[in-house]
Amino acid sequence: MTDAKRIVVAGMPAAGHFNPSLPIVRELARRGFEVTYYTSDDFRARVEEAGCEFRTYPAGTLGPADIAEATRNGGPVRVVARVLTATEALLPLLLSDLDTRRPDAIAFDSNAIWGRMAAARLGLPMISLMTTMLIGGKAMARLNAREWLHFLGEAIPGVPAARSAKRRVVRQFGKDAYPPAPGLPMRGDVTVFPVPRWMQSPDPRIDDGCHFVGPTIRPPREDAPLDDELAAFTDGPEPVVLVSLGTLHAGSDAFFRACFEALGGLPARILLVAGSHTDPARLGKPPANTLIRASVPQLEVLRRAAAFVTHGGMNSALEGLACGVPLVVVPQQVEQLVIGEAVAGRGAATVLRHNLSKRPVPVAELRAAVENALSGSSPREAAQAIGASLGEDGGAPAAAEAIEDYLRTRHPG
Ligand code: UDP
Repeated sequence: MTDAKRIVVAGMPAAGHFNPSLPIVRELARRGFEVTYYTSDDFRARVEEAGCEFRTYPAGTLGPADIAEATRNGGPVRVVARVLTATEALLPLLLSDLDTRRPDAIAFDSNAIWGRMAAARLGLPMISLMTTMLIGGKAMARLNAREWLHFLGEAIPGVPAARSAKRRVVRQFGKDAYPPAPGLPMRGDVTVFPVPRWMQSPDPRIDDGCHFVGPTIRPPREDAPLDDELAAFTDGPEPVVLVSLGTLHAGSDAFFRACFEALGGLPARILLVAGSHTDPARLGKPPANTLIRASVPQLEVLRRAAAFVTHGGMNSALEGLACGVPLVVVPQQVEQLVIGEAVAGRGAATVLRHNLSKRPVPVAELRAAVENALSGSSPREAAQAIGASLGEDGGAPAAAEAIEDYLRTRHPG
C-alpha cells in the first residue's frame, strides 16, 4: 500500500462482537492503514494496544451492560430497539466527526446501524464485520412448537418499541440511508465472516462480497494471565470442565443448581462462570469440586479444559474447538442451536436445547453429556480435528486482505 488509507470502525460494544474484530483491525494497522475504532470506553486499552486510534461512545449511549440487558429482557427484538435508540445519539456524533476528517471507508459491526448509515450518508465504501453466520427461515423451522411459543412470547412485546424507534431514525436521518431489508445483521460492499464456511447454510444473501475467513481468535498467551486461584484450580490432576453461558445471557439459578447436582459428583474440577448477574451466595454452597467466578479469561482457561458447557455463542464455540475441547451446548437462542447442531454434526458437541422452551436442563442429561465429552475419545478427537482445521481459511490476515483488495480495486487512490 502506498498512501495510508483511513478506516473508521463503528463497533458494537460487547465482548462477543469486539473480540473477533480486534485481530482484524490489528492486522489492518500492521499493514499501514490508519484505523480509528469507535466503541465504549470498556475496550479503550485493547484498541490502543492493537495500534488503532480509540474514540469513545459517550457514556449512556451504548455499552456492554445495555446490550446484555436487552438480550436478557426481550431477546433479539429488544436488542434491535436498543441499537436503534443508540443510533439516534451515535449517528450525529459520527457524522460530525467524519465531516471534519473524512475516512476512505467505514467498517461497521453487522449490528451497528449508525456505522452503516454514516457510510450511506457520506457515500463511503462499506465494510461489514459479521460476528456469526446468517440465519434464514430454515433455521427457524428447526424450532419445535414449544420453542416457537417461547420465542414469540419473548419477541412480540418488544415489537412496538422497535417499530417506533425505526420510525424515529428514518424521520431524522432519511429513508435512503436506512439499511435495506432484511435489516440486521447488515452486509456491506465487502463482508467478513470470522467463521468457518461449513457453519453457513446456503443463503441467497451470500454473494461475491462475502468472505469466510474462519475464526480470528488471537493465539493463546504463553504467559497465561490466570490469577493464583484459577491457576491452582485448573492445574490439578482431574480434568477441568468450564461452564459459561457467555456475557449477554444470564443463566438461571435453576441452571447453576442443576450444574451443582449433575457435575458435583464427577471426578473433575468444575469452573462455573456465573456472570455478574448471579450472586453466588444465592446458589447455596457449591460442591467441593466446583469454583464459581463472575468471569474468567476464557481462552486461557480453555487451553487447560477437557470439556466446555457453553451457550454456543459463536466465539465460545470456536474458542473451545480451537483448543480441541468438546462442547456441551445449552443454547439460549436459535442461532446457538444452529451452531451447536453444526458442531454436533461433526461429532464434537452434544446439544441440550431445553432452555429454548424455558424448560430446565435435566440433571441426568447434563451429567451424561459431560461424561461423554470427558471419557469418550471420539468427541475429543472430533474437536481436535475441527480445531486443527480452523486456520485453513486464513483468519485475520485473510480478512485484512479482502478489505485491502476491495479498497484497491473498487476505490483506487
Ligand atoms: N468471555 C471471556 N470471559 C468470560 C466470558 C466470556 O473472556 O468469562 C469472552 C469469550 O472468550 C468470547 C466472548 O467473551 O470471546 C463471548 O462471546 P460469545 O459469542 O461466545 O457469546 P456472547 O457473550 O456474545 O453471548
